[in-house]
Amino acid sequence: MDRRQFIKISAFTGSSATLASCGNPEYHLIRFVPEDRIVPGTAVWRPSICPLCPAGCGVIARVMDGEVEVLRNGQLGLTRMGLAKKLEGNPDHPINQGKLCTRGQAAAEITYHPDRVGHPLKRAGTRGDGKFEEISWEQALGELVAKLDALAAANDQNKLAILLRPERGLRGELIRQFATRFGAPVPLTYEFFDDDVLRRANALSFGNHQLPTFDLAESRYLLSFGADFLGTWNSPVAQNIGYGEMRQGRPGSRGKFVQVEYRMSQTGANADEWVPVKPGMEGVLALGIAQVIMKSGSRRAGDAGPAGMLIDGWAGGLAEYTAQEVSKRTGVPAARLERLAKEFSEQKPAVAMIAGAAVAQTNGLFNALAVNALNALMGSVGTPGGVFFMQGGAQEDIAGGPRSANATARSLNDRQPLQEELRDAQVLLIDGANPVYAAPRAWKVRETLTQLPYIVSFGNFIDETSALVDLILPDHSFLESWVQSMPESGAKTAIVSMAAPVMQPLHETRATGDVILDVARRLRKPLELPWKTFEEMVKAGPSPAAAKRVPDRAKPQEKAARRPLPGGEARKFAEPQFNGDANEYGFHFLPYPSQALLDGSLAHLPLLQELPDPMSSAVWSSWAEINMQTAERLGIRQGDWLEITSSQGTIRVPAFPSPGIAPDVVAMPTGQGHENFTRYATGRGANPISILAPVVESETGALAWAATRVKITRVADADGTLVLFAGSLRDYPPEHPHR
Ligand code: SF4
Repeated sequence: MDRRQFIKISAFTGSSATLASCGNPEYHLIRFVPEDRIVPGTAVWRPSICPLCPAGCGVIARVMDGEVEVLRNGQLGLTRMGLAKKLEGNPDHPINQGKLCTRGQAAAEITYHPDRVGHPLKRAGTRGDGKFEEISWEQALGELVAKLDALAAANDQNKLAILLRPERGLRGELIRQFATRFGAPVPLTYEFFDDDVLRRANALSFGNHQLPTFDLAESRYLLSFGADFLGTWNSPVAQNIGYGEMRQGRPGSRGKFVQVEYRMSQTGANADEWVPVKPGMEGVLALGIAQVIMKSGSRRAGDAGPAGMLIDGWAGGLAEYTAQEVSKRTGVPAARLERLAKEFSEQKPAVAMIAGAAVAQTNGLFNALAVNALNALMGSVGTPGGVFFMQGGAQEDIAGGPRSANATARSLNDRQPLQEELRDAQVLLIDGANPVYAAPRAWKVRETLTQLPYIVSFGNFIDETSALVDLILPDHSFLESWVQSMPESGAKTAIVSMAAPVMQPLHETRATGDVILDVARRLRKPLELPWKTFEEMVKAGPSPAAAKRVPDRAKPQEKAARRPLPGGEARKFAEPQFNGDANEYGFHFLPYPSQALLDGSLAHLPLLQELPDPMSSAVWSSWAEINMQTAERLGIRQGDWLEITSSQGTIRVPAFPSPGIAPDVVAMPTGQGHENFTRYATGRGANPISILAPVVESETGALAWAATRVKITRVADADGTLVLFAGSLRDYPPEHPHR
């Protein structure tokens, strides 16, 4: 025991007596000496970065002294320290400019969550039964190092597999460098709402393998194909700011916004016009609009450059895509299509965007290429009011190595089945991904992981995936860590954010970056990584190779024109394919990202469970949206229990009849239905991802998560499970069907 430790323990106070009077005589709580320099009663604001989505918004945390329960040397006790009490948007941050979405507001709950893993855990029972025992960091690191040394001794370094949530910052780069130097394959990434189809389309159309940034503040007309850009997609706070400018920032000039989608999102509810379209036909509608514009003579096919040449029939003016023909395929009346085309071509600058279900079909790449061609036709790429690509935002720009496919993490979404990827793995490291919950059951992720000899997680909560691992090495929360972010979109110029810890760690966790570096040093043959700590890496900035790279200032169309792109041939339209016979499975099934819980990774935060959904006002629950008139026809009332069945399985969920959904569509938010994810999320609602068919986008192989058909059966009356913050939609007059 060192002197400091002695002082801490000798600072024991009479708190146990106080607790005894509360009826808890066995509970002895130590009061530790404060470790922080804090001025009682004085708040300081410290910067950090919101970790809840890849947008990388800057936050400032209001830090004040407070009393908190902490773990020190395995001992629970009380101490006074600086605590982050409230998060606000950082007014100096170029992405979010002082604003923060509701998820960002709730991010502080990660740190104080009662179910956080506070120290290393080792599996104690059989895999999957969720039993763990506490072990020391020394023992935990020793175990992992021994496993890696054994791989190296057998010359089996390629049997180390790494699975990450997509990570564009230095944390991801460190893990990639660790893998490369060890001799392991390039890490895999997995995220359910992966935007890889759109990135591929942007690479083909414009030479930028990344998500776009929109100059909405300068736009006068916005046509969105399924992009929930005000809610969950891409860089929502930056897009909300630009959208606000577009609508109200120019006196006398309010930009028009049209949303095309078959289930009304929060974004769609803000639109001037909501245009329902048949699933998978968004690209056809975009080409119909382009055809009308070209036919009018205001723009020519050649104006679109290489982006147009990716569409079969473009050079000939898209003769197959007349308004009448497109109307038959999309369900959008020809007169409406012609009016939209006229507005889009006349109210300049105009821009189109596409995301969400529109690119999650079997023909998703075609849909995205069609919208890209429409933007290129209008000269809306790289020009004010149009679409941009952030400098340095492409995945290749942060890999710190040559621009080869091998330099980046590979996306699991387009390389399933997982069984094949992990077939030979002896050791698997998992950071931030929860594929057991967030992948279709048909992928058999649980079964695959159960077979692996040794799995380690760096998560700080037990979820469906980490419940299967052998060792948990818990990370600090973002407020306790050095953090760094390099978003791929949200501003025109490259942005690198970094921040020091806002507060001392509450528990005996360690920053994952430091753990990776420590493991690299402890190996029998240590890996040569140039940093001692993650703090050192963050302070050194992006890798020299990435930093020295001169930003390419050419416009995207010029880049696409001069760079030979693989797969640059023209694509023919292919009808979207759906799993499930239409006669038996009469509804398209649409899982969409929950405003609060996203793909389910935030379901453990009670503030977000409590947040009313902007469309249904539901809290703490799952629901299935169904068209009001369809519900009427089937005798389904709000809250009635439905069974939703696909070719892959059945889930039960309360019904929510809604006017904002097509008659042949059933939609469900993702996020609930966790089997094992803290006290707040476990056993609550149903998981729509679990019944998705493993259908893929035809060219990229990405999961086509909007291509499953289902049937529904009303199985029980409403029983109060569906909790709505507002009243019933039946309080309002019924609407006409939308198509
Ligand atoms: S958009 Fe919201 S969740 Fe995403 S980084 Fe910004 S504040 Fe966080």
